[in-house]
Amino acid sequence: MTTQEINKIREDFPILSVKVYDKPLIYFDNAATTQKPKAVLDRINYGYEHLNANIHRGVHFLSQKATDAHEEARNFIANYINAESASEIIFTRGTTEAINLVAFSFGEFCCKEGDEIVISAIEHHSNIVPWQMLCERKKMKLRIIPMNEKGELRLNEYEKLLNEKTRLVSVTHVSNVLGTVVPVKEMIEAAHAKNIPVLIDGAQALPHMQVDVRDLNADFYVFSGHKIYGPTGIGVLYGKKEWLDKLPPYQGGGEMIQNVSFEKTTYNELPFKFEAGTPDYIGSTALAEALKYVENIGIDKIAAYEDELTAYATKRLLEIDGMRIIGTSEHKSSVISFLVGDIHPYDIGMLLDKLGIAVRTGHHCAQPLMDELGIPGTVRATFSFYNTKEEIDTFVEALKRVVGMLS
Ligand code: PLP
Repeated sequence: MTTQEINKIREDFPILSVKVYDKPLIYFDNAATTQKPKAVLDRINYGYEHLNANIHRGVHFLSQKATDAHEEARNFIANYINAESASEIIFTRGTTEAINLVAFSFGEFCCKEGDEIVISAIEHHSNIVPWQMLCERKKMKLRIIPMNEKGELRLNEYEKLLNEKTRLVSVTHVSNVLGTVVPVKEMIEAAHAKNIPVLIDGAQALPHMQVDVRDLNADFYVFSGHKIYGPTGIGVLYGKKEWLDKLPPYQGGGEMIQNVSFEKTTYNELPFKFEAGTPDYIGSTALAEALKYVENIGIDKIAAYEDELTAYATKRLLEIDGMRIIGTSEHKSSVISFLVGDIHPYDIGMLLDKLGIAVRTGHHCAQPLMDELGIPGTVRATFSFYNTKEEIDTFVEALKRVVGMLS
């Protein structure tokens, strides 16, 4: 992307002109959450100002308009990830809720004592704990795909874990700590060869690459709106219709019913069966707006520019004595986790903050990965298409100062 294009993009994000301690904000915490373009903020306002009425149940004008907008958003999202039909798109609060939904509903329907779920060594807690809870409930076993020293999954070990007890594989598409891009298509193929369904945690993938759920042949694919320039509190569970049709509802109440009596309740059709209570119909439309924004720029263009930023930042960071980059996968997304000498990540993060630079420090909700690496945490800088090489230069110079102070 040209400097001109990036400057124009930056103008779309009001928060990027905020000052932090009187310094221009440098926001490198994009894996935790992304900033929102004006188009998304305007869509939220527009929704409340012009289209606010509870959806699905109303005969009145506004309710019907709001329902249409919500269902149009569902359609847009289905097309965006190439789902076969909009009824395969279930709105959730985010990735975490989507995984919990599958862990509960799939667990109830398909799992029994002695069965196994396969996850990997590089998962976020959101793709560990719901499966652990299922394993506890049903007396099942969690099996872990190991990684190599670069932070890539060991695929030969993965294949050995797949057996007649394996009920489901659940892996991340991109690691939020190491940036590793996992070869999920290949892994899905291997699982399907043994009739095992696969859930992909796409929280860190969708913002950086084109995702085609049918090409991947994923059984379930989940992501969060706030990590792809949309609002917080909305996310998506994509599930193949044949699976969603079979699974029992996750929560009860609201529009998920067909008929209720005190004797028996029958459930609504897809996707409503999984959407109990008033849906976030403002969030859904704002999420679709965020995806339109990304689509207008072009995800391939975004990916190429973010790769350029990551390569540039990696090269510049390695100028610093004692720099240790954690996660050196061949295929890597725009995440750089690092440690410098024996300085605690928290101290680096605190001082960078005072210089206006937002990075994340700690275990990044991946404590088992930290244990495996034998470290308490890392400093993590994550880039978006609104970041610049100049910001990276400022960050590296600031980091050199901080390291000098703390060494
Ligand atoms: N999975 C991955 C890989 C993540 O990076 C995150 C958030 O950082 C999550 C799941 C959880 O996302 P959310 O908090 O939006 O549910």
